Amino acid sequence: MDHKKQTKKRIAVLPGDGIGKEVIPQAVKVIQASGAEVGFTEFDWGADRYLRDQTTVPPDGFAMLARDFDAILVGAFGDPRVKTNIHAKEILLGMRFKMDLYANIRPVRLLNAALCPLKGVEPKDVDFVVVRENTEGVYTDAGGVFKQGTADEIAIQEDINTRKGVERIIRYAFEYCEQHVKLDGSPRNKVLMCDKSNAMTHAGGLWQRVFKEVSAEYPKITAQHMYVDALCMQMVHSPRQFDVIVTNNMFGDIITDLAAGLQGGLGMAASGNIHPGRTSMFEPVHGSAPLIAGKDMANPFGAILTAAMMLRHLGFTKEADKIEAAVLEAVRLKKTTQDIGGGLGTTEAGEWVAKRVAS
Ligand code: ATP
Repeated sequence: MDHKKQTKKRIAVLPGDGIGKEVIPQAVKVIQASGAEVGFTEFDWGADRYLRDQTTVPPDGFAMLARDFDAILVGAFGDPRVKTNIHAKEILLGMRFKMDLYANIRPVRLLNAALCPLKGVEPKDVDFVVVRENTEGVYTDAGGVFKQGTADEIAIQEDINTRKGVERIIRYAFEYCEQHVKLDGSPRNKVLMCDKSNAMTHAGGLWQRVFKEVSAEYPKITAQHMYVDALCMQMVHSPRQFDVIVTNNMFGDIITDLAAGLQGGLGMAASGNIHPGRTSMFEPVHGSAPLIAGKDMANPFGAILTAAMMLRHLGFTKEADKIEAAVLEAVRLKKTTQDIGGGLGTTEAGEWVAKRVAS
């Protein structure tokens, strides 16, 4: 059956491992409360399944997701019982690489001043987006180890940067900047490219050349550049200066954990893995957090805000607005988990938001 012809959008749900299994049910509950016309199909891909029958991704798994679903909602993958982390790699990186979800969009928004560890920083001061290249860089696993276990061991990790890959992510950042206003309604008008081209000259050189070329096509947008080390300092020192930041896979991974710190920690951060026009995947920034898994402690708001991001992507603007407003209200009233100062469990916090959305 061609699900994409139906008006009801089809969502594949992969809760995964650890706290993914706790936060995703809350996100699903909140989507249902929003009244968005969607249908869910849950998949058990993850550590339990892998330990049971050695399956990471069933045959035809990625093709099935792309064919039968409009979007994918993912929790997290990672489990101490699977030392190699092979299932996480095959499922998560497999989805990103094999479905070519090249743009990892990570909004960084401070919902309430109390959540930011910095002094005197207000919500208006933290409202930027990191556009992370998601299919190349050092995450392709190209390289190898030679003379392993000897004193002469050599390990090589290749950093893959293609002209096509660099150009499309930089272009995505400019398009995003043109099309997305800030939370307060003011336009975005700056794209900053972050690299380490002073030390990594070959890859950095390509990013620099492409950035210059693509930015010339967007004269209304100010093009800026920072080395990744300087950017880290500036993100803490004056986060207000940023609108859209575009960078490679590894720097994007690192700076968005730092950015999560500005918005109340990993439990608050949402992300989308997008290829325009194709089935895209949405996941909270945090991992499976085995240390807090199974304790009803995990903050579900990153997953719930991820659900809102997914709904917005699918065209459910009203429903996404309602969910974001309810999370904002929960934070204001401290109806939250402990990591951001409240006293609720994962389920209670999710239920509070769901009720608010439904009201
Ligand atoms: P990965 O390698 O997949 O990023 P990780 O274990 O290194 O996994 P996370 O799982 O993201 O990193 O979590 C690191 C720590 O951050 C957790 O141990 C926990 O203290 C905190 N954390 C992450 N997500 C949440 C959440 N949703 N709610 C509360 N705390 C969280």
